[in-house]
Amino acid sequence: MTTVHKVRNFIGGQWTNSTGTEFETVPNPATGAAIAQVPLSVRSDVEAAVAAARLAFPEWSAMAVPKRARILFKYQQLLVEHWEELAALITEENGKSYTEAYGEVQRGIECVEFAAGAPTLMMGAQLPDIATGLESGMYRYPLGVVAGISPFNFPMMVPCWMFPLAIACGNTFILKPSERTPLLAGRLAELLQAAGLPDGVFNIVHGSREVVNSILEHPEIRAISFVGSQPVAEYVYKNAAAHGKRVQALAGAKNHSIVLPDADLDLAVSNIIGAAFGSAGERCMACSVVIAVGEAAEPLIEKLKSAAAQIKIGNGMDSEVFLGPVIRSVHKERTIDYIETGVREGAQLLLDGRQAPAAQMDGYFLGPTIFDRVGTEMKIWKDEIFAPVLSIVRAESLKEAIAITNRSEFANGACLYTDSAKAVRQFREEIDAGMLGINVGVPAPMAFFPFSGYKKSFYGDLHANGRDGVEFYTRKKMVTARY
Ligand code: NAD
Repeated sequence: MTTVHKVRNFIGGQWTNSTGTEFETVPNPATGAAIAQVPLSVRSDVEAAVAAARLAFPEWSAMAVPKRARILFKYQQLLVEHWEELAALITEENGKSYTEAYGEVQRGIECVEFAAGAPTLMMGAQLPDIATGLESGMYRYPLGVVAGISPFNFPMMVPCWMFPLAIACGNTFILKPSERTPLLAGRLAELLQAAGLPDGVFNIVHGSREVVNSILEHPEIRAISFVGSQPVAEYVYKNAAAHGKRVQALAGAKNHSIVLPDADLDLAVSNIIGAAFGSAGERCMACSVVIAVGEAAEPLIEKLKSAAAQIKIGNGMDSEVFLGPVIRSVHKERTIDYIETGVREGAQLLLDGRQAPAAQMDGYFLGPTIFDRVGTEMKIWKDEIFAPVLSIVRAESLKEAIAITNRSEFANGACLYTDSAKAVRQFREEIDAGMLGINVGVPAPMAFFPFSGYKKSFYGDLHANGRDGVEFYTRKKMVTARY
């Protein structure tokens, strides 16, 4: 029998019960069995976390930057030592395959490695002579208490886009993990404490709306990093800004992959299958639309269909499994509604995930679904479905394929499969998206580059990670001096 873990908040270095009375059950999506109870914390819990983070700030922000970095080096080491355990926990609460969870841990660790470069990243800039005998210099400082609100689909990687760099820069941090995947965050906190992080520098408040609203409204929180769905990102952006906060809000996506006739079709198919159905399509960089150009269409579609039909579905802890469950039964039902909508709209259903034997199992499984002849007037083309559903649109030219892609209201990622440098250049110049792949399925930038898109995929100015992240979590002072 599985033990049902009672999740607690982490405030000022202590595991603390929420003062709220409501809990939500967290099931393992592969079995439906309850694994945890997560508290829906209340405003007073956020206030307690802010008080702890404020208390920790003076000492933490004054600590020599190399000393802060050394704690992150130790943390990196502990994450590496606990790699398998962390990956298994991600699979248990999120459902993605162990291989993907293992890769997610790697992406999280890379963020810690980048943040450990704080002494270089925090440097300012000087010009000794802006006029005769007059010098000028820029100095970088932390903001104070900052907060992060994360989604269910990357319980480790997304929080690691936020807190390692935020604390490396000298801020103290409050994390509000997704209430659907709250467990991994607890291990991140325990390992931070083991690495020697002082109490109050990193805090966790679990819950949903009330916690988010309390964070948005709290006058002592200086900046908010949000990653999640489009409507909530827009809401967070507007409300955080209305309360005078700096905000970066990464939102939903509808990523297109364009396949030209000169592409290596086998490579394209294996990348598209990985990008469309890996992590059950629950990735902001998932490929949800393929645009088959000209003669690429028939052979590409045949190969996609046969590769998708061979996908092994099941519990992500089974090493043979590629496609795990979606996150909740309501998400499965919502996906089934979308499949019905696609059929009603006149798209051609080539592979029906509802018919996969796994769709009858306990847990929230659906097989891969492929629609052909999808049109841009259809809801299945417009909406982010966030499930193992792939739409195929046909186009006559690269120009037409780019125009179709740019019609989407989202602009996170886009990929091109081709052997032509000229086509690559045209794609790079004309496509309206933030993260581009050339013969690559999931072009997620590494931690030292900025991560994000445009249009309804992003609200804010500075993207996550890389130099943008350093800018986001610091403020600058300019000193002009004559001696
Ligand atoms: P979500 O918007 O449901 O939840 C994200 C966070 O917001 C959670 O912590 C949740 O508790 C909170 N929240 C949810 N509803 C709220 C409300 N009404 N008011 C206040 N707070 C609320 O997102 P999700 O389903 O957990 O994550 C999937 C979404 O995240 C997808 O749309 C995906 O594309 C997006 N995502 C984007 C990126 C990116 O880099 N652009 C990365 C990962 C995920």
